[in-house]
Amino acid sequence: MKRRLVIIILSIFLVIYFTNLYAKGQTVIADWLSTPEEQTVNVPVEKGDSDLVEDKPEQIPYLESTLEVAVGGKVVVNNPGDLLVLVNKKRNLPSDYVPEDLVIPNVLFPFKEKLEKKYLRKEAALALEQLFQRASQDNVKLYALSGYRSYKRQEEIFNYKAQQRGEEVANKTSARPGQSEHQTGLAMDVTSSGVNYKLVESFRETIEGQWLVGHAADFGFVIRYPQGKEEITGYSYEPWHLRYVGKEIAGKVNTLGITLEEYFRDYM
Ligand SMILES: [Zn+2]
Repeated sequence: MKRRLVIIILSIFLVIYFTNLYAKGQTVIADWLSTPEEQTVNVPVEKGDSDLVEDKPEQIPYLESTLEVAVGGKVVVNNPGDLLVLVNKKRNLPSDYVPEDLVIPNVLFPFKEKLEKKYLRKEAALALEQLFQRASQDNVKLYALSGYRSYKRQEEIFNYKAQQRGEEVANKTSARPGQSEHQTGLAMDVTSSGVNYKLVESFRETIEGQWLVGHAADFGFVIRYPQGKEEITGYSYEPWHLRYVGKEIAGKVNTLGITLEEYFRDYM
């Protein structure tokens, strides 16, 4: 009798135990089954998000997009003929670049010879004529001193200055070949009789220098190397160096009181 009772009790425990096991097993199987289901729901959402990121067009900043590395590792601009080309100590013009539309503007020069430096690109030359005409109407007598300069001529000038005053001084006051804005045919150095037709900082204090500060932008020119911006332009203050960029951008650069480098970096 006792033995039968023990067997019955044991059987009851076994049934309860296996029933529990079976129930737990169902839950585990259910969990296991549900996991891949949830993943298959999540995967396409994640994939969709990454697709959106990839679809966005890559934006290359204007200043980078206008540069390329030439043979020999030199960083050159790929838009030398562009009216908005930016040339400085980090952005070389190709050594063989010569503007195609150089003309002599009909303005006053303090010399008679038909030298290379009288030339400017056509659009810049026309704008300079208008600038000089307007100055003349205001009884301001400007003289154009130095416009287009070939790569070769710039090389001669730089080497001469480096020989006379050392390379460090030459680097601050004169451009290396390929790094002069004068090679673009869009820059003109302007002077007056008050400073003996020289390019000196005191030009700023003259009536002519003052007039330029107030009117150059109206004709599409910027005073390219302003005072206090030497770190950005790489050049000492040059109140005589005009660069043609067109009225719209000259106006913005002038109003904002910034350099061309800052304009192209922040507004293009
Ligand atoms: Zn100049």
